[in-house]
Parts: sequence; structure tokens; C-alpha cells
Amino acid sequence: MAKIDKLKNKIKHDKSSWILAIPLFIILGLGVLAFDVRDDAALPSGENVATNANPIELSFSDVLRRANEIKTMNIRGSDATGTLDDGTKYTATITYDPELLTKMAESGATISIDSTRPFTERMVFWLPILLWILFFWFIFRGPRGGITRSIAGQNPTKIMTGNPKKTTFKDVAGIDAEKQELMEIVDFLKNKEKFKSLGARVPRGVLLSGEPGTGKTLLARAIAGEANVPFFAASGSDFSGIIVGLGVAKIKEMFEMAKRNAPCILFIDEIDAIGQKRSTQIHNDQDREQTLNQLLIEMDGFANDTGIIVLGATNRVDMLDPALLRPGRFDRQVYIELPDLSGRREILNLYANRVKLASNVDLMDVARGTTGFSGADLENLLNEAALHAVRVGHKEITNEDMDEARDKIMMGPRKVRKIRDADKKLTAFHEAGHAFVGQHYADIVDPIHKATIIPRGRALGMVQHLPIDDKVSMTISEVRAQLSVSLAGRAAEEIFFGADKITTGAESDIAGATRLVRYAITTAGLSDKLGMVAINQSAPWAGRGALENASEKTAELVDSEIRKWMDAAHADAKRILSQNRAIVEKLADELLTRETLTGDEIRDIIAGKKIATKRKTSKTKTKKSK
Ligand code: ADP
Ligand code: ZN
Repeated sequence: MAKIDKLKNKIKHDKSSWILAIPLFIILGLGVLAFDVRDDAALPSGENVATNANPIELSFSDVLRRANEIKTMNIRGSDATGTLDDGTKYTATITYDPELLTKMAESGATISIDSTRPFTERMVFWLPILLWILFFWFIFRGPRGGITRSIAGQNPTKIMTGNPKKTTFKDVAGIDAEKQELMEIVDFLKNKEKFKSLGARVPRGVLLSGEPGTGKTLLARAIAGEANVPFFAASGSDFSGIIVGLGVAKIKEMFEMAKRNAPCILFIDEIDAIGQKRSTQIHNDQDREQTLNQLLIEMDGFANDTGIIVLGATNRVDMLDPALLRPGRFDRQVYIELPDLSGRREILNLYANRVKLASNVDLMDVARGTTGFSGADLENLLNEAALHAVRVGHKEITNEDMDEARDKIMMGPRKVRKIRDADKKLTAFHEAGHAFVGQHYADIVDPIHKATIIPRGRALGMVQHLPIDDKVSMTISEVRAQLSVSLAGRAAEEIFFGADKITTGAESDIAGATRLVRYAITTAGLSDKLGMVAINQSAPWAGRGALENASEKTAELVDSEIRKWMDAAHADAKRILSQNRAIVEKLADELLTRETLTGDEIRDIIAGKKIATKRKTSKTKTKKSK
């Protein structure tokens, strides 16, 4: 076992696991595939953009001498490339030097280590060693330990070091409340003494929770940037390696590094990968449990005034072991919401500076049409729009490009396959049905933005509604109207093609409507039959449709209520459509010829007005009023 301890001590991943393989190989023949350090994320985006200057060549002694001038270094094998603080690009051949990387990290360099060699090549090199490891570990750990992850190389170790000078709260838009909450931590890191003298208790761990792409990592970096302290980041999945005990060793190492560099931020992304509730683990994973224990020990182990703040990020707080959330650990939680309307607008504004927008693109309109988009989605939206503009030869990004980009992100890329004419016709009526009933309830459902029979993702067509504001609640009539609109597609198929011609095309309509009714009656208490009782859907493994804290009788009642609401909405949609056959037919015809109708065009057709045959892209601009 002494050998194992020695091995663990050797694991200094923050420095250079890429090269550690060599001593390991020599000492024990114990190579570790998991040491495949790759960290593209450490390079702030934008820095990959090549400048035209040729890189200068540095000798290794140059690198050593000028270590503190190095801003970024990307290491691949013994080749290093990057930029110096003054922006000069360089290349260098470097040898293993334990001090070098630490030195660079301390002076604020961003180091990324890239050892992504082709898998096969790696296997040829590592296979004999892998066999050794298997042998070795089975002998020493007995049958229960063994190998925790079977396929190696899938688990790149990610340790970012360095000081993200450039990320500050200015780079985070639209989530002011969260920023405000985290300001205190910045304050603490900056004025440790003030807090100490007042005897204020400062959190050691803050858990950032929220959907992916809401900016948790960005915020963590910004905190470090604002406080001007080093930022160390790892991901929970880095801690489950091929070797038992590796996770524990890595946690220890990480905290040692943090202590050496305090005050600093230690960021653990996807913390649920280590911190999962012990009881919910499917099989008893001893290694993970030990890793979690080590994390708890480390968090309890440093004094409050050390100046280390551990930030954890997860989108599954409910999965976390309660022990992690106890006082002194991650006892503070900041939930980062998906941005609301004005938040989305601010984020769009932030990124809009990078692209060339046509003057008639109204970012407020864009924000309105992107409910549910995260910050990352919005950034992506502008990128996609720019790409589309280039592709179709626009000089600047138009509304059309923005619409196209949004549809692509929401629904997947446009399908190129040819649709049969019969399918197209049916789709046109289906969408006309949605559109007509949607307009019928224009006062209480979101106004129609556009209808299209251009297939996208799995959908053959769609009608888009554009909320005027972010809805926080719905009235019961809004729920019922929404259901009628959802089921109107199928209703139109029945009316115009007959009950024997209905299609599977209403699949997602039905799914959405069912979800809404279920929510309305089991959670929101909108059913007079069920009353104001919360009936939760139970865990998925309890069987299909099983309900928690509900008797069998209640469960049956829920089923029949859902059915009743759905049937009523279906009948309502059918009634509205059959009373207006001629107009619905006209709508479907126009859809067939034009493929896409804007909300205004739909309203014109329904009002019996002629619509202009030619239309400019600017006409697709979202209408703000109903
Ligand atoms: P998470 O860690 O929550 O998954 P990230 O911080 O990795 O999300 O966000 C991904 C990217 O999306 C960020 O690097 C940033 O470019 C963008 N982003 C997300 N939220 C925001 C925001 N509120 N303001 C500005 N940019 C954001
Ligand atoms: Zn539909």
C-alpha cells in the first residue's frame, strides 16, 4: 500500500499530468489513461482568433526566464503555443519542469494542456500498461474496489488555472439580482481584514444552481475577476477516474493548491457528479463515496478566514447529498434563473455589439420571442444569425436571419427532404386550424407570430405565438383556450379530411396539452372535481402514471379529469373551425402557396382583406400589439 500512497502523491494534476505519465511509467508501469488532460475551456474565447503576426520562437530557457510574461500557453506534448502579455504569439518546445507551470499560474497565465491524441494511438501506447493496472489493482484492492470506470480516456481531467483578468461582472448581463447576491463574496475576498475584525461569518461554499448555460461558470469567473484572485476550476466528472482512490487524491491536491494560492476561488462544475445523494446511487459506488467524503473533510478543514471560497455549480440541487449543504459547507445557494424578458434583452445587447445588425432589428422583439432561452442560447442565437446572414449574402443581420437562427435553435436545422404533396396539404390544414383558433382566442392567448409548413426538426410545420410579456400565471380560461388552440390542428384534420385520415402529426400537440392539463388540475388546483390538492407525479420507476400521495381513486379521477378537459377543448376547436370552414380553407390555401404566413397576414386573411403578394422581409417584423 505504501506504493499506492507514493503514487497518489505523485498525482499533481495541477502541474503536469501530461508528462507525469513518464515517471509513472518508469516507476510502476502504471500509466493512467484518465490523465488525458484537455482543457479547451481554459482559453477564453476570442483568444483563439489568430492575429496575422507570425509567432516568435522561444527556447526553453527563454520560457523559464519570461514565465511571468506569459499570458496563455497551450501545451500539446512538448510543443507549447500561446501569447505573451503584450499580445505577441510564440511557439516553444518545453521540457518538464515542476516549477514552470506553477510559476506561470501564479503570475496569472491561462494554461491549457491538450493531449488529445487519436484514441487508437493512445490505446496502442497504453494497452500494455492498462493490463498492468488491472492486474495491480485487483491484487491490491480485492474484488470490491477494482476499476470504477471501464472505458478510459473519456474522462479528461480539467484543471484551469490562472487569473481570468478579463472576466468581470460587466461580462454578465441580465441577472442583476444574482450578481448583487454574489457581490458580498467579492467584497470578502477583497477586504478579508474588515470582515475578520467584525467577526462576520463568511460562507466557504456557495452553490450556484440553475439550468445549463445560465452563466454559472461565467459568474464564478467574474467573481474571481472582480476580486482579482486566482481562479481554479475542475469538473465533478474529473474526479471519477479509472483508479480507485484517484478522486480522493485529486480532491486533496486541489485543495492544497487552493491553500497555496489563497485568497482564491475554487470552482467545481457539475458538483452533482461527486456529490450525489448516497442513497440514490444505483450501485454502491465506494470510490465516489470516498471522494465525496474527502470533499467534505477538506471543506471542513480550512479555516474560515483562509480566503478560499469554494463555488459549486449544478443543475440538480435535488440530487445532492444533504451533507454537502450543511453549515460550513455549501450553506449558501444562489439560484440562477433563466433570464426574463428584460434580462434577455440585456444579454442580447451585450452580444449585439459584436455583430452588425440591420437598423430595423429590434432586440426587444427578439427578446420577446426567446422565452426560455439561456444566456448561452442567446449568444448562440446571434452567432447563428450572423452565420445565416453570411450564407445568404446579407450585408448585415436582418430580422429574417434572426428568425431563421431562432427557429434553428428551437427546432433543429431545416429539413431538406422533399415532402409529399398530400402531406403538405394536410399540414397546411393542420396549421391553419391552429392559426384560426389561435386568432379566435387572440385576446387571451399569445398573438400569432407566424405559421409555416416548412418542416423543421421533427415537426412538419408550426404556428408560433409570441408572448407580449413573460407570463407568470394563467387564468383558467387561458388554460382552456390554450388547450383548444393546441388541439385545433387535429380537429382541422378531422373536419377537412375525415376521421379516417387523421395523422400522427398531432403528437407533440397532444403531449403539450396533456402536460398543461395535468399541471392545471394536479398542481394548480384548477379542477373543481379534484379541488385544491397537490398531487405529485411520483418517481419514474414507480410505474407509469403512478401518483404519489394519492389514493387509487384519486388517480382514476385525475385520469378522467384530464380526459374531460381534453375532450372539451377538442370539441371546442372543432366547433370553431366547422363554423368557419371557408376562412380556414383560405388560410390553408395561402399557406400551401406561400409556405409561411406572418401573424399580420393571417389576421388579414381572417379579416377578409387582401394580402399583398410581394412582401419585404421587414414585414415579418413582430407585431407588438394584438
Ligand atoms: P453554465 O456554467 O451555467 O452552464 P456558462 O457560464 O458556461 O453556463 O455559460 C456559457 C456562456 O453563455 C458564457 O460563457 C457566456 O458567453 C454566455 N452567457 C450565459 N449567461 C450569460 C449572461 N447572463 N450574460 C452574458 N453571457 C452569458
Ligand atoms: Zn399541431
